[in-house]
Amino acid sequence: MGSPRRFDFHIDGEWRGGSAAGRFERENPATGQPVSSYLRGGAADIDVAVAAAGRALAAPAWRGLPAAERSEMLLAAAAEIRRTERDLAAIEAAETGKPPGQALDEIRAGAELWRFAAAALRTVSSDLHLDLPGRHMAMTLIEPVGVVALILPWNFPFIVSAERLPFILAAGCTVVAKPSEFAGGSALLLGDVLKRAGLPAGVYNVVTGTGEETGAPLVDHPGVAMISFTGSADNGRRVMAAAARGLKRISLELGGKNPIVVFADADLDRAADAVLLGFTHNAGQCCISTSRLLVERTAADALLAKLAARLRSRPLAQPLATRSQYDKVQSYLDLGKAQARPSCEGVDSGDGDGYWAAPVIFDDIDPASPLLSDEIFGPLLTVQRFDTEDEAADMANDTAYGLAACIWTTDLERGLRMGRRIRAGRIWINSPQENFPEMPVGGFGASGIGREAGAQGIRAYSEIKSVIIGTQRGGA
Ligand code: NAD
Repeated sequence: MGSPRRFDFHIDGEWRGGSAAGRFERENPATGQPVSSYLRGGAADIDVAVAAAGRALAAPAWRGLPAAERSEMLLAAAAEIRRTERDLAAIEAAETGKPPGQALDEIRAGAELWRFAAAALRTVSSDLHLDLPGRHMAMTLIEPVGVVALILPWNFPFIVSAERLPFILAAGCTVVAKPSEFAGGSALLLGDVLKRAGLPAGVYNVVTGTGEETGAPLVDHPGVAMISFTGSADNGRRVMAAAARGLKRISLELGGKNPIVVFADADLDRAADAVLLGFTHNAGQCCISTSRLLVERTAADALLAKLAARLRSRPLAQPLATRSQYDKVQSYLDLGKAQARPSCEGVDSGDGDGYWAAPVIFDDIDPASPLLSDEIFGPLLTVQRFDTEDEAADMANDTAYGLAACIWTTDLERGLRMGRRIRAGRIWINSPQENFPEMPVGGFGASGIGREAGAQGIRAYSEIKSVIIGTQRGGA
């Protein structure tokens, strides 16, 4: 057993010690062994980091650069991420319990988002109005919002950062990031990556610690102009209250309780693969996990038989990220087993150490059960049957959330009709939830507010100024 990797804060382009509050360790959820040691940040550390970000914002070396040069630096960052991908993926896998290959894919997908933001930056342009009444002309100026607090979750630490950070930087803002206390390694290593790519000191700073001790003083800090929060709905409410106190800009990317709707005319083999992936990928710890299967009654038995065969033949158990997540999932499993018999269960291939969980499918659940309404964040699938399209749409929308939905049908007109009726920020029709940087990431209801990724990303971190010029009167 090696000793845990020791991280300090990354502030002003340097590794820095903390104010005094001490350290905490993060264990590998697959083995239970410590992998990382982090500083516990407090209000004094947040002061130092926000001051560094404020200085970098005021300096001409970042927001004052021509867009083409800032874009070049983001491209250099993407290339540097690829050069460092093994190290980034190793810490990501060790802290989250992801399979190493999956972690590497996520780092590469993250680098692609950096490349996309670099290109999008070149397309941002102001408006010019030359013939306004009274011989006025006017223009819009697009300015960075200011220092952004970037609060990150543990389930996809690098990808979630890549969906936000390069767009925040493209807008000319500077950042203080607070990664999850369970997975801070990739956010910290990124500090060195961006330094090597040539980003000025203070543009990206990272302070580690818990939500209460570190996150709360960060979002309340008067030097922070905007909060980008990705996490649970409960903490989203707390952060929104902090934003209201300071009248700060806010973007909230929260949870989901996402349906996958399978019609009888679907290609049931492809649909079965998608259902399985939808609730087992990342051990079900995805905001877009499709944990509610809605299946047309006439196809239900055939689809469930295909799912059972796949569960028996594939080793799908994975570690959950934390002890408390494991306990939470177990409590829902107990509840499910008290209310209904699991229709099929996967094989637990874990070695006994760590927080391993195998997939379970619950059929015929009481419609009032919390299994159908709570975001569980584990490899649990519930099954409900429908007879008509109307019924399927009503069931799909019967949730406080509205993040993602999948539809499987060979009737594309019906797929599009359903896509319009289901209230969700991302809809996939006959696709295993592929994501593309070109597409925005939104959500209805308790899934959050804001559209940070995609081509709209840069605007989300910009303020628009109107500049109106009175031209000389008289003349032609
Ligand atoms: P969480 O809410 O427990 O923590 C998220 C982050 O917020 C952590 O860094 C935490 O330390 C910090 N935090 C907690 N309380 C805070 C406070 N009062 N002030 C400031 N910061 C605070 O969420 P989690 O368990 O890390 O992540 C899982 C959740 O994230 C799930 O609900 C999931 O659906 C959601 N998520 C959403 C998206 C999306 O794009 N919509 C993506 C990934 C995860």
